[in-house]
Amino acid sequence: MPSHIKVYNTLTRKHEDFEPFDPPYVKMYVCGPTVYDESHIGHARTYVAFDAIRRYLERRGYHVIYVQNITDIDDKIIQRALEERIDWRDIVERYTGEYLDQLKKLGITPLINPRVTYHIAEIIGFIQKLIDKGYAYSSGGSVYFDANTYEHYGELSRRLEKTMWRQEDDVLKEKRNPYDFALWKKRKENEPYWESPWGPGRPGWHIECSVMSTRYLGTRIDIHGGGQDLIFPHHENERAQSEALLGVRPWVKYWMHTGMLTVRGEKMSKSLGNIITLKELLQKYKPGVIRTWILSAHYRSQLEFNEHSIEQATRNHNRIMNVMREIDSQLSEAQPTFYLNDDELAVFNKVLNLFRGFHEAMSDDFNTSEAMKYVMEATNIYHKYIEGKESFSLLITARMFFELADHVYGFSVGEESKVIAEREKELLKLIIETRSVLREKKEYDLADRIRDKLLELGIRLYDKGKETRYVIEK
Ligand code: AMP
Ligand code: ZN
Repeated sequence: MPSHIKVYNTLTRKHEDFEPFDPPYVKMYVCGPTVYDESHIGHARTYVAFDAIRRYLERRGYHVIYVQNITDIDDKIIQRALEERIDWRDIVERYTGEYLDQLKKLGITPLINPRVTYHIAEIIGFIQKLIDKGYAYSSGGSVYFDANTYEHYGELSRRLEKTMWRQEDDVLKEKRNPYDFALWKKRKENEPYWESPWGPGRPGWHIECSVMSTRYLGTRIDIHGGGQDLIFPHHENERAQSEALLGVRPWVKYWMHTGMLTVRGEKMSKSLGNIITLKELLQKYKPGVIRTWILSAHYRSQLEFNEHSIEQATRNHNRIMNVMREIDSQLSEAQPTFYLNDDELAVFNKVLNLFRGFHEAMSDDFNTSEAMKYVMEATNIYHKYIEGKESFSLLITARMFFELADHVYGFSVGEESKVIAEREKELLKLIIETRSVLREKKEYDLADRIRDKLLELGIRLYDKGKETRYVIEK
């Protein structure tokens, strides 16, 4: 059994042993986007980080019930629709479609992507129960959560002084305490609305996540994630209303938060005008490169965007993909091993040691940055000791390691299938043999043309002395 998994819990500020409430399931809820604009690479950072956590947990035998919501009603959506003079639903459909498409490209597949507007009845029911139990009150057509009724308010963000933030005067007048927050917002002119027992209006932001997570994951969640920018007020408020209503504590076992993606030290966000859209990045770099780049940092650390670090990730990704392909192609020829000599046995053990290092790093609060070192080390071992040798044992063990790493990092996400049919294989052999004859006859022009043409087709040839090997790159 690999090392026990430790998780850093934002609530306790400690690393804790990972023990889900109801193994083998891990219930994981991640706060997804407000679909009023294109996703930027800050969003991608958070989604990829949680996806790698999910993938690692799956490798450890858990079944992760992964839910990531879509906020499809919000001030920003309404504002954007007014600016563009179109229906707010058109904004929502446009950006929901793009977001889902980009998640798919990045190899991220939540089991459920619940949308707020599909859950209005459940939200109204949840709010009504909060009122019935004395945790919430209606006022002026809106409903507020009474933060004073929940004695643990402020523990998650450690904002015990109950920070005030800018509020409109008429909203302030409706509240018992300035830090009470809206569960239901009364209708404003020209805004979308739904009927409710308190009059027409729409849900506040925080309530949606409490309602949708409870609906799909039950009353207790193992991992609740999002970016660090959500700790306050969003997660603080979610926690208050959920623990109040559900009568459980902790409602969430591990609060996990990703560090911000920054540009010159500043958080990437639409309001700061420093965004690089995910669409742009996906046009320039393969999904596997983007994943390699994001996961080269620990999920809790700040990740600074710069071309240099993405270029580095591109080189690493190339190196890893090439080794994985070379191993596959060598394996198709290799015969079972009957004997390993001392040198081979030493290499065999070197590869086996990588598994331990990898698991130790990933078990230490999912340290993908540290685990990546073992992946790069595996490529070094391959080039130094395994490349060109027909040793089935070494190849298959190395492939086992890369399969594990690929599962977690998703290096091969979006790469075309490398599998080729038997007949293609035989044809390729024939071409390579013919080319070898040409090279022997010093007909290099023709031999090079064959090599270049094959490369265009995604087949790279390697000449080592008289021998030629091939790797299918796409
Ligand atoms: P939003 O649409 O802004 O509510 O964000 C959706 C998700 O992306 C949330 O989990 C945010 O915490 C996360 N997020 C937004 N901006 C960034 C950023 N610059 N770096 C990392 N995560 C972010
Ligand atoms: Zn949320």
